[in-house]
Amino acid sequence: MNDLNALKGIGPKTINTLNQIGINSINDLVTFYPFRYNLIKRSLIDDLKQDDKIIIDGKIETIPNMFRIKKNLDRMSFKINTGTHLLNVVIFNRGFLKPKLKINTPISLIGKYDKKHNMVIASEIKLSFLPPTEKIEPVYHMTYKINVNSLKKYINLALDLDYEIDDYIPYYLSEKYRFMSKKEAIKIVHRPSSVTSLKQARLRLKYEELFVFMMRMNYLRMDKKNKIGLKREVDYDKVLKFIDKLSFSLTLDQMKAVKNIYDDLISPKRMNRLLQGDVGSGKTIVSFIAMYINYLSGYQSALMAPTEILAKQHYENIIKVFDDKVNIVLLTGKLKAKEKKEIYKDLSEGKIDIIIGTHALISDNVNYANLGLVITDEQHRFGVNQRSNLKNKGYTPDILYMSATPIPRTYALTLYGDMDISNIKTMPKGRKEVKTILKSEKEIKDVLEMMLNELKANHQIYVVAPLIEESDKVNLKDVGLIESNMQKAFGKYYNIGVLHGRMSNDEKDEIMNKFKNNEIQILISTTVIEVGVDVANATMMVIFDSYRFGLSALHQLRGRVGRSMLDSYCVLVSDYKTKRLEILTETNDGFKISEEDFLLRGSGDLFGIKQSGDMSFLLADVKKDYKILLKAKEDSANFLNNLDKYNDQGSINLKRIIKEASNLD
Ligand code: ADP
Ligand code: MG
Repeated sequence: MNDLNALKGIGPKTINTLNQIGINSINDLVTFYPFRYNLIKRSLIDDLKQDDKIIIDGKIETIPNMFRIKKNLDRMSFKINTGTHLLNVVIFNRGFLKPKLKINTPISLIGKYDKKHNMVIASEIKLSFLPPTEKIEPVYHMTYKINVNSLKKYINLALDLDYEIDDYIPYYLSEKYRFMSKKEAIKIVHRPSSVTSLKQARLRLKYEELFVFMMRMNYLRMDKKNKIGLKREVDYDKVLKFIDKLSFSLTLDQMKAVKNIYDDLISPKRMNRLLQGDVGSGKTIVSFIAMYINYLSGYQSALMAPTEILAKQHYENIIKVFDDKVNIVLLTGKLKAKEKKEIYKDLSEGKIDIIIGTHALISDNVNYANLGLVITDEQHRFGVNQRSNLKNKGYTPDILYMSATPIPRTYALTLYGDMDISNIKTMPKGRKEVKTILKSEKEIKDVLEMMLNELKANHQIYVVAPLIEESDKVNLKDVGLIESNMQKAFGKYYNIGVLHGRMSNDEKDEIMNKFKNNEIQILISTTVIEVGVDVANATMMVIFDSYRFGLSALHQLRGRVGRSMLDSYCVLVSDYKTKRLEILTETNDGFKISEEDFLLRGSGDLFGIKQSGDMSFLLADVKKDYKILLKAKEDSANFLNNLDKYNDQGSINLKRIIKEASNLD
C-alpha cells in the first residue's frame, strides 16, 4: 500500500497539490520529515520570556467567556490559578468544552506565553494535569502550495496505515547499533514522545541515508576497472608553447591546474579530476589546454556543456585557440539528421579530434574511435558521476569535471575520496568586483535610474525573474509582468528581449545571439541564463524576488556580469532581507560563499544535488552529521567486501541499489 488514494478523505485535487511538492506516495508522505522541533517544557512562570512555548497546569478561576467570531471560529477566555500566579487564558475553537470548564477544574494548557498581557494563548487544553514530561512539537517546512496543518493531517493519517517501506540497513548493523525498525523511527520522528527516543529515531534514519550514499560512493571507488587509464607521452614544452600563444597569460592557479591535469593524463592511472573555480575564473581555457594535451597524444576529446547555447559558445572560443589542423565539431540538436549521421560516422572513424555538445555526446548511439578525454562543464547540472555511463560502452577516458559551485575540501575528500581536485582561486588580472546592492520593491525607481545610466553608457542589462507557477502570481513578479514594466520604462529607446524555459532552443539561441550582438539591450529571463554565457558588455544584473533564489544560484547569476574592465552592478530586489542576500552584498568570493551556503543550509544543495538526486538527504547533513558519515563510510566499505555473507532483507535491498549504481549512475 503506497498509493496516496489510500488516505481517507483525500481527493484528486489534494493529491495533485501533494504531487507538486514532490509527494507522490505514502512513502514520500511519511518521509516528509519535520525540519525542527519545539521543545515545550514546564517552567517557572517568572523565568519565561515573551512568546515562550509552555505547558502550564492550573485550576480554573473564572467561568469561561465564549465569543463566537464567525461560524467556524470561536474564542474563549478565562483565568487560571497556577498556585503562584493568576493567568489569563485565551483559546480558539474549543467552545464545545465550555460546559466542562467549571471553577476549580484542574487543567493543563499547551501554548504560547504572552508576558505583556499576563496571558497564555493556548493551542491545546487537557482536562486533567498532564504527566510531568516535556512535549515535543514537530515543525514542518512550510510550502506555499499546501497548508502545513493539512499536510500534518495527511502525514498522521498515513502513519496509521499499514504501509510498507524499504529498509536499507543490513541486519547485522541494525543489531550492532541496536537500531529500532524503520517504521518505528519514522513514527517517532513525526510523533516524538521524548527527546531520547527522538534522537535515536533520527540517528537511525540519518545513518541509513548516509550508509546508502557512502555505499554507492565506495562501490564506485572500489571498482578497479574504473582506475586503469590510458597511456600517453606528451612533451610538456609543447603544452607551454601552446600556452605562450594565448592572448593572455594564465594565472598561477590556472597554471597549477594545467600541470595537475598534465600529470594525470600522462600517468597510467585514470584521471578523475574536479576543476573548481568561481564563475569567470577561467576554467574553460584550462579545459581547452587539457584537450590539447589529449590531442597531442592522439586521442579524441568530448566537451559537454549543460545547454546548447553554452556548447556553441565553447565551440566559438575553442576554434580561436586551436589551429586548423585540429578537427573540431559542434554537435547540436539543430543539425539535420544527415549532418548528424555524418558526424557520428566521422567520430567512429576517428576523423574528429574534438567534439563539443551537450550530454548527448555520451548517449548510446555515439561511438568513438578512441575517446581519451571527457570534460563536463558545470558538472553539477548533470549529476555527480558519469563514469559508469561510459564504462558500459567500453571506454575508459580520462575525466575532468568543471564546477563553479565549490565544495569545502574536507567534505569533498570524504565524499569523493577518489576524485582529485584543482582549485582556481584567483581571478584573471584586471577583473573588477561586481558591486552588489540590495533594494526593496519600493525603491524600484532607484533601480530603474541605475538601469538608465547603464543603458545611456551603451551597456547591456540582464533582468532575472524567478520561475513561478500560475498559483503564486499574486505575490511575485513573473517574466511577463516585468517585461511590460520594462517596455513602459525603456521600450521607446531600447530593445528588450525575453528568454524563458518554454521557448524552443532555436528561439532561445536567437534571443541570446541578439543580446550578444547588442541588438537587444535588456534581456529578461528566468534562470536559464544561470550558467556560462559570456557577454562582456553586460554590466548590470537585476534580480527580482531575489530572496527566492539559493545563495549559490544568486552568485552564479551575478557571475554573468563583471566580465570586463567596466564597472558592474548586481541589484538584488527583495522585500525580505535575508542572510543570503546580505552575504552576497558582502563578498564576491565563490569559495567563501559556498562555505556560507554550506553553513546556512547544510549540505542540502551542494552540486545542485536536487537535480541529480545523488546527495539529497532528507535528514542527514554531511556537515552536522560528519561523525555518522565516517561510521557509515567504514561500515559500507566492510559491507561491500563481504557482500555474499549477508542475505537479510536490508542487505538484499542494498544489493539492488549497488546493481543500479553499476548500471546507471
Ligand atoms: P569560467 O571559469 O566561468 O568558465 P571562463 O573560462 O568563461 O570562466 O573565463 C571567463 C573569461 O575570462 C573568458 O572570456 C576568458 O577568455 C577570460 N580569461 C580566462 N583566463 C584568463 C586570464 N588568465 N587572463 C585574462 N583573461 C582570462
Ligand atoms: Mg564556464
